[in-house]
Amino acid sequence: MERKFVIHFPKTLVDKPIMSDLVKRYSLDFNILKAYVTPEEEGTLVLALQGTEENVDTAVKDLKEMGARIQSISSDIRMVRELCTDCTACIPLCPVDALYRDKEDFSVHFDAEKCIACGLCIKACPTKALVFTI
Ligand code: SF4
Ligand code: SF4
Repeated sequence: MERKFVIHFPKTLVDKPIMSDLVKRYSLDFNILKAYVTPEEEGTLVLALQGTEENVDTAVKDLKEMGARIQSISSDIRMVRELCTDCTACIPLCPVDALYRDKEDFSVHFDAEKCIACGLCIKACPTKALVFTI
C-alpha cells in the first residue's frame, strides 16, 4: 500500500538521517515529492510511503515520538478539463508543481501523481475546475 504524508521536522531533527533509518527498519520504500526548509528552519518533507499498513503506521508513530508533526494526505483532487479556462491562477499556488502549462499549446494541466491534496488551487480556481473527489 502507498500513503502520502506531509512531515514537518523541528530544527533539532532537520539534519538527522531519520527517514533512511526508518525505511530500513520497517522495510519501506519512499518517494519524496517535495522537500524544503522554512525560514524558521523547520524541515518539511512531502512523501509517499510504501509498505505494509502496520509498518507504515509504526514508522509514523516513531516519527511523532521523535517530535515530527505529520499530516496524512487522504483526499484526491481532480481537474474537470472542460471547466478550465487556462487562466493559470492556480499554477503559482501549487507547492509541488502539480499544475503546469503545456509548452506547446499553453493549456494548463494537472499531474495527479505529484498532487498532495493541499486544496490551495481549489479556492483559487474561478471556474471550479479543480475539485476534491472524496
Ligand atoms: S491540491 Fe492543488 S495546489 Fe495542492 S498540491 Fe494538488 S494541485 Fe497543487
Ligand atoms: S485556476 Fe482553474 S481555470 Fe484557471 S488554469 Fe487553474 S484550473 Fe484552469
